[in-house]
Amino acid sequence: MPPDEIEENRKRLESAQGYSEVWRLTKHNVRKVLDKGRSSMMLFLDDMPLRLGAYHPLGTNNIVLNRALVQIVEATTNSTKLLNAFVYVLLLHEYLHALGYVRETQVRPLVYQVSKDCFGEEYATTQLAKLGPWSLLQGLPLDRLKAPKKVIEIVKDFEKANRRYIV
Ligand SMILES: [Zn+2]
Repeated sequence: MPPDEIEENRKRLESAQGYSEVWRLTKHNVRKVLDKGRSSMMLFLDDMPLRLGAYHPLGTNNIVLNRALVQIVEATTNSTKLLNAFVYVLLLHEYLHALGYVRETQVRPLVYQVSKDCFGEEYATTQLAKLGPWSLLQGLPLDRLKAPKKVIEIVKDFEKANRRYIV
C-alpha cells in the first residue's frame, strides 16, 4: 500500500471516536486488501472472562466483544491509539471469521497481513496482530481481576453513525 494511504489509515485509526468508526476503517481495509466485504453486521458488548476478546457466532451477522476487557485496556493504556488498535485487531479477527475464514490458522495470518499492508510493520495494530492483543496487558493478573457482569448490550448504529466506547 502506498505510504500516503498508510498515513491516512493511521490518522483515521488514531482519531476514531468509538466502535463504528474503527469498524468503518476495518471494513474499508479488508475490502482493499482482500476484496471482500459483508454488510449488516451487528456488534454486541458483553462482559466475559478476560482471556476471551470477542467471538462470532457461526451463521450469524453478530460479533460479540468483551466489554470488560476493552474497559481494562482503556484504563491501563490511557491511549486512544492503543485502545483503537486493540479494538481494530479484535474486530478484524471476528470479521474475517464472518467472511468465511473459519479456522484460526487462516484468520491469524490474515489479521497480520491486513494490518501490515494498511499500517506498516512497526505500527501498533501490526504488533498486536503479531504478538496477540493480550501483549498490551502483560503483567496484569487477568485471572484475579473480576469485572462486574452487566447486561449484554447492542451497539446501536454500528454500521452507521458515531458511537463512543463508554455510555
Ligand atoms: Zn478466532
